[in-house]
Amino acid sequence: MTELQSRTGAHTDVPQVIDFELTDELKAFQADAREYAETELAPFAEAWDREARFPRDAIAKAAARGYLKVTIPTEYGGTDLGNLASCVMLEEINAACPSTGVTVSVHNSLVCSLLAKQGSHEQKERYFPKLRDGEWIGAYCLSEAGSGSDAAALTCAARDAGDHFVIDGPKLWITTGSEAALFVVFARTGEDRVKGITAFLVEREWPGVGIGKKERKLGIKASPTVEILLEGVKVPKSNVLGEVGRGFNVALDTLDGGRLGIASQSLGIARHAIDTIREHLRTQVDAKGRPTAHQADQWELADLAADLDACRMLTWRAAVLRDRGLPCGPQAAMAKLKASLLANRAARSAVSILGPAGLSGAAERLMRDARICEIYEGVTDIQRLVIARGELAR
Ligand SMILES: Cc1cc2nc3c(=O)[nH]c(=O)nc-3n(C[C@H](O)[C@H](O)[C@H](O)COP(=O)(O)OP(=O)(O)OC[C@H]3O[C@@H](n4cnc5c(N)ncnc54)[C@H](O)[C@@H]3O)c2cc1C
Repeated sequence: MTELQSRTGAHTDVPQVIDFELTDELKAFQADAREYAETELAPFAEAWDREARFPRDAIAKAAARGYLKVTIPTEYGGTDLGNLASCVMLEEINAACPSTGVTVSVHNSLVCSLLAKQGSHEQKERYFPKLRDGEWIGAYCLSEAGSGSDAAALTCAARDAGDHFVIDGPKLWITTGSEAALFVVFARTGEDRVKGITAFLVEREWPGVGIGKKERKLGIKASPTVEILLEGVKVPKSNVLGEVGRGFNVALDTLDGGRLGIASQSLGIARHAIDTIREHLRTQVDAKGRPTAHQADQWELADLAADLDACRMLTWRAAVLRDRGLPCGPQAAMAKLKASLLANRAARSAVSILGPAGLSGAAERLMRDARICEIYEGVTDIQRLVIARGELAR
């Protein structure tokens, strides 16, 4: 028995180490996602961005490969691969097209995983067959004009009318809102700031559900972000998601998963920026083929490469915690904080290092797309707030 074993009471003969390798199953899934991203997304992403065109066919192909059912339990026809698999897949997709990336991320991490965790058997039987094959896309409606970082300030009202609720009030900045057929809507069922919020499943085709203005954005232009209008929408009580009055906790728990999706989006953007810098520096050689790139540029490449690995480890660690059903709030916030800052730095460096070419080629799109990673699923300062609360509670 080793000294460590006698001190800790560990039973294993082998020292416990962290395994940084993906399983063979996940490596194959990663390779499949990379092939999808390189063939179905990368050649078209620039045009989709320029025309602000939603990549409907590419999403259908993602569904055909099973990418829209990774958080759906197997008994409802999903693959239930979980959060780590989702992160691995999303890094690949986002390295090619962050607009497709956020569509897939919201559908999986904010809608399907929420339904899997909180939904009744009847709700799962009704909606998962449509969601798993991409027939229906899901959207997540939490934010309002006066409620984003302060989610508990939402005012969208759900009035109890016997066997149903009546929902009134617009939702703002809803990703894929104009394409979605199912909305998770957070609305106020009571006066208490936190305990007065309930989550509902609302279908696009129900009377009173409308699509408002579409935002004209800096980046991820191929992902439509719209206002969702809810005017006198009758929602049967069977469509309450989870318990009445528990919506705020549900929203926060779901956001931990969503943050892993945006951390992975950031990893994909950062990786694309680093690849762009590397390829550019490789072209700078003397007559004998020796690198002549400025040392400052090489050091920036080195720092970015090291930070990318560090951020990926943070992201995968939080994903593993979540897959094990353990709390991961501060860990997911750390991943999102660090990865989103890295995506912005890497994209900015790519533009700088490429010189004038950086302003017109793929690097300029990277810089525009990276900016949003610091905003949605909680702005950068909110990630710091979550981490600081975790630290102070230790
Ligand atoms: C492209 C896009 C897509 C989106 N998709 C969705 C979606 O699908 N569903 C959805 O529900 N929402 C969505 N959102 C909304 C998004 O989550 C919110 O915009 C975000 O949470 C920020 O909230 P806010 O807009 O109210 O900004 P604010 O809360 O007003 O934040 C603005 C700034 O104020 C400061 N700040 C605010 N509060 C604090 C604080 N407590 N401590 C320190 N500083 C603070 C920060 O500097 C922050 O950057 C989307 C937004 C965008 C831009």
